[in-house]
Amino acid sequence: MLLYVALGLLVHLVFFASIFDIYFTSPLVHGMTPRFTPLPPPAKRLMLFVADGLRADKLYELDEDGNSRAPFLRNVIMNEGSWGISHTHVPTESRPGHVAIIAGFYEDVSAVAKGWKENPVEFDSLLNETRYTWSWGSPDILAMFAKGDSGNHIFTDSYDASSEDFGAHDVTKLDTWVFDHVKEFFHAARNNQSLLSKLNGDRIVFFLHLLGIDTNGHAHRPTSREYSDNIKLVDKELKEIEATVKDFYGNDGKTAFVFTADHGMTDWGSHGAGHPLETCTPFIAWGAGIRLPQKVSAQNFDDSYLQEWKLENWKRQDINQADVAPLMAALIGVPFPLNSVGIIPVDMLNTSDLFKAESMFTNAVQILEQFKVKMTQKKEATLSFLFTPFKSLSDTKQANILRKARYYIKQKKYDEAVLLCRELIDLALRGLAYYHTYDRLFLASNVVLGFVGWISYASLLIIKSHCNLTRGVSTEAKNPSRLLPYTFVAIGLFVALLLLIQACPWTYYVYCLLPLPIWYAVLREIPVIQGFVTVLLTFRPWCFLGYLLLFILGVEVLVLSFFYRYMLTAGLVAFAAWPLITPLWTRAKRTSLSWILFCFLLAVFPLLPVVGREPDIFLVVGAGLLVLLLSLFVVTSVIKRNDSFINEELVLHLLQMLSIVLSVCVVYGTHKSLLEKQGLPLLNQIVSWTILASSFVTPLLSPPVLFDRLFSILLASMSTYLLLSTGYEALFPLVLSCLMFVWIHMEQETLQQSVVSCKQKVSTIQFACNTDMTQCRDLYLDDIRRAFFLVFFLVTAFFGTGNIASVNSFDPSSVYCFLTVFSPFKMGALIMWKILIPFVLVMCAFEAVQLTTQLSSKSLFLMVINISDIMALHFFFLIKDYGSWLDIGTSISHYVIVMSMTIFMVFLNCLAQMLTTKKLSLCGRPKSHIT
Ligand SMILES: [Zn+2]
Ligand SMILES: [Zn+2]
Repeated sequence: MLLYVALGLLVHLVFFASIFDIYFTSPLVHGMTPRFTPLPPPAKRLMLFVADGLRADKLYELDEDGNSRAPFLRNVIMNEGSWGISHTHVPTESRPGHVAIIAGFYEDVSAVAKGWKENPVEFDSLLNETRYTWSWGSPDILAMFAKGDSGNHIFTDSYDASSEDFGAHDVTKLDTWVFDHVKEFFHAARNNQSLLSKLNGDRIVFFLHLLGIDTNGHAHRPTSREYSDNIKLVDKELKEIEATVKDFYGNDGKTAFVFTADHGMTDWGSHGAGHPLETCTPFIAWGAGIRLPQKVSAQNFDDSYLQEWKLENWKRQDINQADVAPLMAALIGVPFPLNSVGIIPVDMLNTSDLFKAESMFTNAVQILEQFKVKMTQKKEATLSFLFTPFKSLSDTKQANILRKARYYIKQKKYDEAVLLCRELIDLALRGLAYYHTYDRLFLASNVVLGFVGWISYASLLIIKSHCNLTRGVSTEAKNPSRLLPYTFVAIGLFVALLLLIQACPWTYYVYCLLPLPIWYAVLREIPVIQGFVTVLLTFRPWCFLGYLLLFILGVEVLVLSFFYRYMLTAGLVAFAAWPLITPLWTRAKRTSLSWILFCFLLAVFPLLPVVGREPDIFLVVGAGLLVLLLSLFVVTSVIKRNDSFINEELVLHLLQMLSIVLSVCVVYGTHKSLLEKQGLPLLNQIVSWTILASSFVTPLLSPPVLFDRLFSILLASMSTYLLLSTGYEALFPLVLSCLMFVWIHMEQETLQQSVVSCKQKVSTIQFACNTDMTQCRDLYLDDIRRAFFLVFFLVTAFFGTGNIASVNSFDPSSVYCFLTVFSPFKMGALIMWKILIPFVLVMCAFEAVQLTTQLSSKSLFLMVINISDIMALHFFFLIKDYGSWLDIGTSISHYVIVMSMTIFMVFLNCLAQMLTTKKLSLCGRPKSHIT
């Protein structure tokens, strides 16, 4: 058993990791030479402002009174500079956003997982190419670009990480801190000779990272007064900073200013995914080298932003986020960041046409060079007869275009030169993408081969050990062929040799060689397959086909529910009909009725809006009261059952009820205190953490009698869940548990129909550490339904309260009872636990179902894994790395969710087993009684 688990876990981890090798790999190559425009640049210095988490619409739109929130910036748009929307990529997080702005490339998704503060890969940035850079802001962001600074030319000044407190009175302090320090810096520079001489040089960047808006958006949402006020403050301070700088340099007209944001934010205060609210950020540039506003009468855009913002007559120039880096590089005349894939928006430049054409030429050469390096790398790593080059951009074509562009520039046909260079850039970028995804098909087919092999193997294991199908087959045929192992070894050696010649990375060996042992294991079981096929043939074909169709339909509903939550509702309504089409209805009317009732109740949740967008603390309190009511019923029944009035069990129940009461008080108190901006009271924090810690222990103290233990688990998890709730989702685990409770009874009833005779009374069943394997019976069709129910309930547990389409975006307001200082890992862990609680409840109920129906947990578990693997395979094909960024983000997270569900299931199963079977006793007494 342990071997299977280990093997299954390994296989799934490999499949899981494979998407990062197949779809999302680092785009970086190394070995290019720096290129810069060989003409004097228009600016000597550049000031870059990045307002973290600032949404384009919140900056550009007018408020209810028709006034701008940012009068200074609006004045710049109308009288001084160029503007537009900067479109960002997923993941819309701070790190990749800043890398795109400052280094000009889009970090792959895996970089986010690899760490925030450390650079997973070495990359070149604009700041690195400057003579001097001074930067102010959050330590996390500044450290990214200052790391590896050899010449000591990037200076950082940042506040303490612990001051990023979401609950504090006024997080705009994060911004005023930056502005004050910048003003102080320029003031002090006047009396500091060495600093003064540095400041008077060229190729200088000042980088101001403004975290206040992001923090306010997370804490209060972007529609709040706080968010708007923060924008106003930034705008006002920008004006002062501009004046300070201009004054410092005696209005020499050699300073360029760029204002933008790393990402936007959803209405509910999160970012990470690809919603337009997250990917549209403002971009405003003015000062030296930047074109003055262009008045236009009509502009063509797909959206209606211009009308909403009343900016129809000022030319809007949208850019991609990575285009900012080459623009800034051209403005101050430093080499373009080596890995930049940005294209200079030449229309924004207020320079000679020659400068524009030369900059574009440099841009083309710089991107072409990356293409060449990438091609050489791929060519070297592939056998020559297997290599298919990118046909649209051959060596001669590159040379031709470059020669022609040079010729145009010489002939002063600058516009033609720019167009030609842009064409070359397009081709080079397409070529880069081509080589970047060169191995994709090959790797993907290997992974699919392995996946299908694993599913077949798991099915064979179930069939082999738990069905009487194969017992008739004689044991003589057990050794299919002696040649089989040799064949597989030979194939393996051949594949390994091929990979070795091509100097493939070690992960390729894993993907290519893993299917071999799996398929060997499958083919070894040929007699079982033969036996299974003969049994299948005895079925009536239409009956068999009907079951198959039903199964496929079930899996499809599950897959669709990832895209449309209402499919869960449809599924639950279908479940409600289950007792009606079976004899259950006549035999157990009351259980059937409650089953139908709770199915319908649970079916409501997927129809509600995603959690956290409309907080309602009274629903949380209400859910707490409902739990208390329920536990009162249970307690009275406990008292009735026992003759002695006070015993351990009763004390435990009362303690758990107390913790529910405490949770409700803490949630209410914290909510009130945060509304009054008094931060999180320390007492509440202590109580919250205590409840969380105790919730792991208290279930283990209760007697392992089936329903007592389950109820104790429910109470313990509810007390934590309440603390982590902000709205209606607090009711979700409660309804889910009720349905699970009825499910256990329903499954018990179905047993009476089938041949299994040894039915125990449910209330007397105890969770035991080792289920006696001899009690296990063969599998029936009913067991496939049970496995399917479990998967369906697990998916419902996850999507029931919200489609967490992006693993990155979360609503921090749900952890406010525990902490308010931004700490991604603690917050992530708490939110993870909140997501896991419904899973744990379902798994514990399933544990009970296994017990009452005397199933072998191993084969049932394999069935469950098989169903979710089929879903995972489905999502593997649905992964996209093109199209809208929303699609990409969603497709990744679907695969991530379904794969981690499978992997988690192993852990959850262990956790559920522990929660249900382990028994701690107080005062070292053995467990008191068995009812
Ligand atoms: Zn950010
Ligand atoms: Zn943020």
